[in-house]
Amino acid sequence: METSRLLFAVLMMLALLSGCAARGPLERFESKRVCMGVQTRIVIYAPERTAADAAANAAYDRIADLEGIMSDYRPGSELMRLCGRAGEGPVAVSPDLFEVLRISRGLSRDTHGAFDVTVGPAVALWREARKSGKLPGPAERARAMSLVGWEQVRLDERARTVALSRPGMRLDLGGIGKGYAAQRAVEEIRARGLARCLVALAGDIVVGESPPGREGWEVEIAGGQGRSAGAVLLANAAVSTSGDTEQFVELEGRRYSHIMDPRTGLGIEGGLSATVIAPRGELADALSTAVCVLGREEGERLVRARRAVAAVMEWKSGPGVERRVVESGRALRWAGGRR
Ligand code: ADP
Ligand code: MG
Repeated sequence: METSRLLFAVLMMLALLSGCAARGPLERFESKRVCMGVQTRIVIYAPERTAADAAANAAYDRIADLEGIMSDYRPGSELMRLCGRAGEGPVAVSPDLFEVLRISRGLSRDTHGAFDVTVGPAVALWREARKSGKLPGPAERARAMSLVGWEQVRLDERARTVALSRPGMRLDLGGIGKGYAAQRAVEEIRARGLARCLVALAGDIVVGESPPGREGWEVEIAGGQGRSAGAVLLANAAVSTSGDTEQFVELEGRRYSHIMDPRTGLGIEGGLSATVIAPRGELADALSTAVCVLGREEGERLVRARRAVAAVMEWKSGPGVERRVVESGRALRWAGGRR
């Protein structure tokens, strides 16, 4: 009896050891695709290609599913179907749509409405203005503004339903969807035992455990106007940048960003670029948008009010650029010194 137990233990140890040897060192696998309309990159450290490919494919599939749920460009997306039923009372939604709306509501509350996914009608006016080259008139703006306001979205956690109080309301997840999707994609890869991974949907990046033998992933912080503000070392964290570097419209000599001020229904002005580092993708994404709306002072207060969040803000000042780094329980580790 004793001998057979001992033999079993020895055999188990041998099996484990040979398993480790077969795993060998981790290799780096990288892939790129276009997802949710932007360049998407996945990096995974894995013992061999088959495991890395399977995990990356699962992550891309997860992102594609989320695009089918959250897109505001696809008329058939779950989000657009929900908007089509605005004013009709509670509508049952998928767990992901409910979750992203639940998180959005919390952030609207925390940002005093600066982050607000009901800005859809204002975004639609902004898109028209970009085409026509004309600012929307006061009547158009007033109509749009009557449909904006996060309190007009009612969520029922038990029944998992969403009610949009007025017909014509239009939700827009452009300020949180990519960060949410990047976070879920990383979770998909981690669930396959590959914790050392990175998922980037354009400027919305989520990283898991550090690459082997390193202190973290070197993630470039985008400054304003396409500049780099240096790179930071990160693990188990998310980074998002918002600003008007890429998307803006110039009307009557003023520059309006594609980020709306829900109080005015107009794109924000002032050229602030904000990068937020946070524990999760959806949080980094939404907070970076919110900081841009709130501006430097209020934006800094918002970051300081949270745990484990940091922000890098940049804005034009005369011929140069000014930068402010805000660290709230998360000290940034700059790779190769701060630029
Ligand atoms: P990016 O376009 O780089 O993802 P953001 O994450 O800042 O930048 O998202 C901007 C998008 O968020 C807009 O295109 C719009 O769809 C949506 N949006 C605009 N203003 C707001 C706002 N105040 N709150 C929430 N979402 C917004
Ligand atoms: Mg954002």
